[in-house]
Amino acid sequence: MSGPFTILGGGVCGLTMAAELSSRGARVTVIDPKGAPGGHACSWWAGGMLAPDCEGVSAEPEIVRQGRKAAGWWESQGAAVHHAGTLVVALNRDQSDLATFARRAPRAATLTKAQIAEQEPHLAERYSKALFLADEGHLDPRATLTALHARLAHRGVHFGGDIAGQVIDCRGLVARDTLTDLRGVKGEMLVVRCPDVRLSRPVRLLHPRFPLYIVPRGDGVFMLGATQIETGERSRATLRSVMELMNAAYALHPAFGEAELLEIGVDARPAFPDNQPRIRRIGDVIYANGLFRHGFLLAPALAQMTVDLVLEGKKPEVWYEDYRER
Ligand SMILES: Cc1cc2nc3c(=O)[nH]c(=O)nc-3n(C[C@H](O)[C@H](O)[C@H](O)COP(=O)(O)OP(=O)(O)OC[C@H]3O[C@@H](n4cnc5c(N)ncnc54)[C@H](O)[C@@H]3O)c2cc1C
Repeated sequence: MSGPFTILGGGVCGLTMAAELSSRGARVTVIDPKGAPGGHACSWWAGGMLAPDCEGVSAEPEIVRQGRKAAGWWESQGAAVHHAGTLVVALNRDQSDLATFARRAPRAATLTKAQIAEQEPHLAERYSKALFLADEGHLDPRATLTALHARLAHRGVHFGGDIAGQVIDCRGLVARDTLTDLRGVKGEMLVVRCPDVRLSRPVRLLHPRFPLYIVPRGDGVFMLGATQIETGERSRATLRSVMELMNAAYALHPAFGEAELLEIGVDARPAFPDNQPRIRRIGDVIYANGLFRHGFLLAPALAQMTVDLVLEGKKPEVWYEDYRER
């Protein structure tokens, strides 16, 4: 058995790292002063979309390539991944945005009204055209992290205790104390109950000012997200943001006007200047960070590359910076 390794942080980055290390036989301790996964971690507020093609419309090709590994990795760890794809729609006045999106997402299929009716009957009355990304999936971040935490404990990963061996820092935005180019990008989200609308998959509404995604959580519950504001503020959802999210949901389908508001959430995503993650070695510590809006999408690839490095000395193909070599 190799190790020991100490992982600082028990968000999606830290837990995927612990899973990858322990599944390859290493001794692992995870230290997080807040204990089990919860609202203290940015990961708790995520939509849980595993949507590399949609993200590729505005993100680097590397993010798409690495993100394609995510669904299979999560399933290998026992997570329930829904393989229902993503539907993308736009209001009539924004149809040119749909055409632009289609050009940038080569795997997107165009659906007619009849095909929308087959996939999402509740949207067929309102949209005559949509894009469908069949290969995408989604998971429930809270259930997934809670189950992974329990699975790791069962597998012999220690939670709490003293630092020993190689330290891998996965503290998310808190690591700004060392990673001076790490910034926060605030995201606000809502959870609502709306039994009058049924959706089987994440739906994205393109909008020039208030793009929205809605992720079904089952039992009429939906996650609505998310704002993207350049500030490291980790609390304080504003009236404007909440209003915009609600307006966008209402625009997607007016039945959301009758939804019950269950939760307003907010946190800041840890991001480097190019919005791509990094594995960075500074002194004796390895930092894995900068997951930005791709926590569940890229944490598996980031963990695999980091573990290849610490167990096999294999340099990561991307996103690697060694400050000892400079
Ligand atoms: C509204 C919103 C929606 C999002 N939607 C998606 C989505 O659909 N798909 C997707 O892939 N990503 C999404 N994201 C992004 C994703 O949530 C982040 O990329 C991810 O959570 C970052 O994970 P992390 O583990 O680096 O940080 P965190 O989740 O913040 O975890 C850091 C952990 O470090 C711990 N910690 C703090 N200080 C210390 C210390 N001194 N020692 C040890 N531990 C410490 C904290 O308690 C915390 O548990 C979304 C984010 C937001 C805000």
